Amino acid sequence: MKTIIIGLNHAGCAAARTLINLGQTDITIYDRSLEVSFLACGMALWIGGQLSSGQGLFYASAKDFVALGAKVMTETMVDTIDFDRKYIQAHTKSGQTVTDTYDRLILATGSRPKMPNIPGLALDNIINAKTFRDAERAVTLLAKPDIRRVAVIGAGYIGIELAEACRRQGKEVTLIDSAPRIMNAHADEKFSNFIAEQLTAHGIRIETDLRITEFEGDSKLRSIRTTKGSIPADLAFACMGFEPCTELAQGKLELGPKNAFKVDKNQRTSRPDVFAIGDCATIYNNAIDAPDYIALASNAIRTGIIAAFNAAGIDLPYPGAQGSSGLCIYDMKLLTTGLSLQAAKEHHRDVSFIDVDQKRFPDSHSGPNPTVHMRLVYRNDDRVLIGAQIASKADLSGAIHMLSLAIQTHLTIDALAYQDIFLMPEVSGLNAYRKAALSAGYLP
Ligand SMILES: Cc1cc2nc3c(=O)[nH]c(=O)nc-3n(C[C@H](O)[C@H](O)[C@H](O)COP(=O)(O)OP(=O)(O)OC[C@H]3O[C@@H](n4cnc5c(N)ncnc54)[C@H](O)[C@@H]3O)c2cc1C
Repeated sequence: MKTIIIGLNHAGCAAARTLINLGQTDITIYDRSLEVSFLACGMALWIGGQLSSGQGLFYASAKDFVALGAKVMTETMVDTIDFDRKYIQAHTKSGQTVTDTYDRLILATGSRPKMPNIPGLALDNIINAKTFRDAERAVTLLAKPDIRRVAVIGAGYIGIELAEACRRQGKEVTLIDSAPRIMNAHADEKFSNFIAEQLTAHGIRIETDLRITEFEGDSKLRSIRTTKGSIPADLAFACMGFEPCTELAQGKLELGPKNAFKVDKNQRTSRPDVFAIGDCATIYNNAIDAPDYIALASNAIRTGIIAAFNAAGIDLPYPGAQGSSGLCIYDMKLLTTGLSLQAAKEHHRDVSFIDVDQKRFPDSHSGPNPTVHMRLVYRNDDRVLIGAQIASKADLSGAIHMLSLAIQTHLTIDALAYQDIFLMPEVSGLNAYRKAALSAGYLP
């Protein structure tokens, strides 16, 4: 059984490695770029100078897969797929045409940045933040003394991280968003405010509730005209979200939310011999109990593994996702899983929330003792947890992982209240989610 994988970033790497581990080595992998396995999550650290180079942001190379028995064609773009006759056509960098057949196909074509259709977009110094090459370009441009003013368009996770990175490089930074506040789609205002405070305290200007009408300049970007006036900028990062790369199968495979490839729980598309994984595919969202589109490397890796098992004939359903994410801006960490209260109200009419704001450790603690701000969101009808947010200078990753599992398994807020957790506050700290769950007030 021959498998073709298109795309060798996180989803493709995970699928290829798993297939090989399962003894399925008749694999050919195509990727249009040279670099594979680029950890874009570290891009802002490199751009901001916290990493001295981007070389540590890779965990695999094409050679690794070749050494394991796969055939890998980098710098080779797949142009068409004939799903009935099961073959693909591609072209190499040198223009050579390649035709190849498959028994099973895994689409791992990922996503591309959304670009607005705004006059002036073709000016120099308007850049994306997605690939290794984008990051390399950003590092080069930021090193130039004539790049003094940077505009970051889009105040989601990536835009915010890049705003910090550019500020660390001594630039005048303006973070722009059309929404009324930063992180509008990701967190409630109480929590996004902790991040906004960090940004403004470090000299980053935030401009929200405006629309960009034109990029102005001669050949290079000079300013950004908006509905609230002009913002001077020598460099702009376009960080307005991502859309799935599905053009290879337009009209041939069913699409789901955000026009991603619609997949079932085994990562199968509408054709049983074709799987789709990572950013090009839909994902089942446990917080809304419905298919969704959540572009994250964490999902790409897991869906890649799951698809490989199913392609190898081992039935393994994907347990779904909650969109769990983490952001660290200067020393403030914002961790989220599931829905914010704002998003929950859009999906379910009847929800409640509990906030806890308390010290990380008991007062007797001798070390640093930052405050922990936590919000749990749950449905009123069945009291099932559907969202959690934590903001703190302490690292509460363990708590958000646990809350993510709680949402995945549809636990009630009451199950959290009476969960068995060890009591040793000097080590574990004070448990904010237990306190929140207890104050939800239900006595079983
Ligand atoms: C700046 C930044 C920060 C991020 N931070 C985080 C984070 O902290 N945590 C997190 O979980 N996620 C994060 N993400 C998201 C994460 O990077 C993506 O979800 C992840 O890269 C998706 O992996 P993928 O393999 O599905 O797709 P992609 O990474 O998009 O890779 C798709 C691959 O397919 C190839 N390809 C596409 N079409 C073709 C074709 N026709 N022929 C040949 N090859 C093709 C491309 O060259 C590419 O290598 C971040 C993303 C960015 C940009």
